[in-house]
Amino acid sequence: MASRALGEQYEKYRMAGRIASRVKDLLRNSVGEGSLALEICEKVEGWIIELGGRPAFPCNIGINEVAAHFTPGPDDGTRIPENSIVKLDFGVHVDGYISDNAVTYVFNPKYEHLRIAAEEALRSATEAIRAGMRAYEIGVIIEREIMRYGCKPVRDLTGHKMDRYAIHAGKSLPNVRGINGSRILEGEVYAIEPFTTISTGAGTVIGRDGQIYRLVKEKGVRDRRANEMLDFIRREYKGLPFAQRWILGVRFPMDYIEAWRELVEKRCIAPYPVLVEASNSPVAQSEHTVIVLGDGCEVLT
Ligand code: MN
Ligand code: MN
Repeated sequence: MASRALGEQYEKYRMAGRIASRVKDLLRNSVGEGSLALEICEKVEGWIIELGGRPAFPCNIGINEVAAHFTPGPDDGTRIPENSIVKLDFGVHVDGYISDNAVTYVFNPKYEHLRIAAEEALRSATEAIRAGMRAYEIGVIIEREIMRYGCKPVRDLTGHKMDRYAIHAGKSLPNVRGINGSRILEGEVYAIEPFTTISTGAGTVIGRDGQIYRLVKEKGVRDRRANEMLDFIRREYKGLPFAQRWILGVRFPMDYIEAWRELVEKRCIAPYPVLVEASNSPVAQSEHTVIVLGDGCEVLT
């Protein structure tokens, strides 16, 4: 490709992308039936730091009907079940510039078409995207490709524009046809992420309790320890999502659990719901981050 986005910020995006690709390579042989979900996520987050990046959010692991936003809590003993389908979704940031990507592992041949459909839909979308397109055009391409494999897109999960320290920066890229008319502009950075389920699935998600947290408000607690922790969260994550297991027993002693609970109770921090396929059907996902160019895109991950 002839054109190339110039500027220091893009070099940081590229570095975040290279780290994500490297982590994907390192993951080979780490994800299998019986593997401990918590161990996989901690490995991913550890490799990101070793390679010079920071996790942009806690590593997501989605088993079977769990589509997105699940990360194991501190003592979670979940193992990858036999005959399952598993999504690993992780993000890297370098000075706030984020790469977001996901891979699906299949341990049951009857789910293989879900993975292939998600990957092929992503490939078609990255081949098509260029500056000047409308967001819905990407939705049309993704839906058509997914249907070709006899699968159904999950319609309420979307790709998204990213900015410095912002994973969802306003614009989204749908996975189905629709009316989203926002214009895709040169130099914008997007995560494209088709999700697929079986043709008889609902193709939507519902929420339930989660372990990935976000900062909601920076004030509102009196307790000294709670304020100390809140201040740390604000400075350390700068609005990006985080997990309890990154903080308690790592950056603060375990007896700060009361401070953590105070922050949750006062709604200074709140969990994102885990998103589960509404009919409990298995879900696959594929995701890359791209820089949009006048004549195409640069895939970072
Ligand atoms: Mn992702
Ligand atoms: Mn994403």
